[in-house]
Amino acid sequence: MSKEITVGILSLQGSVIEHERSLKRAGIRSVLVNDVQTLYSADGLILPGGESTTLGKLLRLFGILEPLKDRIEQGMPVFGTCAGLILLAKEIEGESPHLATMDICVRRNAYGRQLDSFETKAVIPEFSDKPLDLVFIRAPWIEKTYGNARVLAELNGHVVAARQENMLVTSFHPELTDDTTVHKYFADMVRAYAG
Ligand code: GLN
Repeated sequence: MSKEITVGILSLQGSVIEHERSLKRAGIRSVLVNDVQTLYSADGLILPGGESTTLGKLLRLFGILEPLKDRIEQGMPVFGTCAGLILLAKEIEGESPHLATMDICVRRNAYGRQLDSFETKAVIPEFSDKPLDLVFIRAPWIEKTYGNARVLAELNGHVVAARQENMLVTSFHPELTDDTTVHKYFADMVRAYAG
């Protein structure tokens, strides 16, 4: 039997309890991470949606930014949703990056005012052959992937999900749906890492 994993959820700001609920529903143990010690107790980490500028500031203020960047570079799996995706990007249009670990360039609030928030359905073969509900809230899109980043999903010509080795990102919020497919996919990444 494989080891029981613990998935951390960065809990400084944003949609923390929603991720906690999704993991619980998927039968995956979770821990809320807001200091370095708890960060080291997790086998993988979810970076939730929220406000990326605020999250970046809090990561620095709590002294988590550098230890987290180190752990990611050493292979710990991370899953960034929305603002979490922005935190991982090496490039953010018009702004300085935060963790800067993933070979993507992102555009914040890319859908503008009219499409500010919306829902749609799409099949993302990497996750499932069934259509998934995709919820976008003042979402970024990935303007460009390069290096080792691999596109997992596009919507209307814009990249909305990608993976680079131990890093998974989605512009949308799987934690705001009842479907746990994407959380289970991430848990498999964490299991592979934790051995
Ligand atoms: N608009 C937010 C940002 O740019 C992201 C929104 C979200 O995480 N739902 O940080």
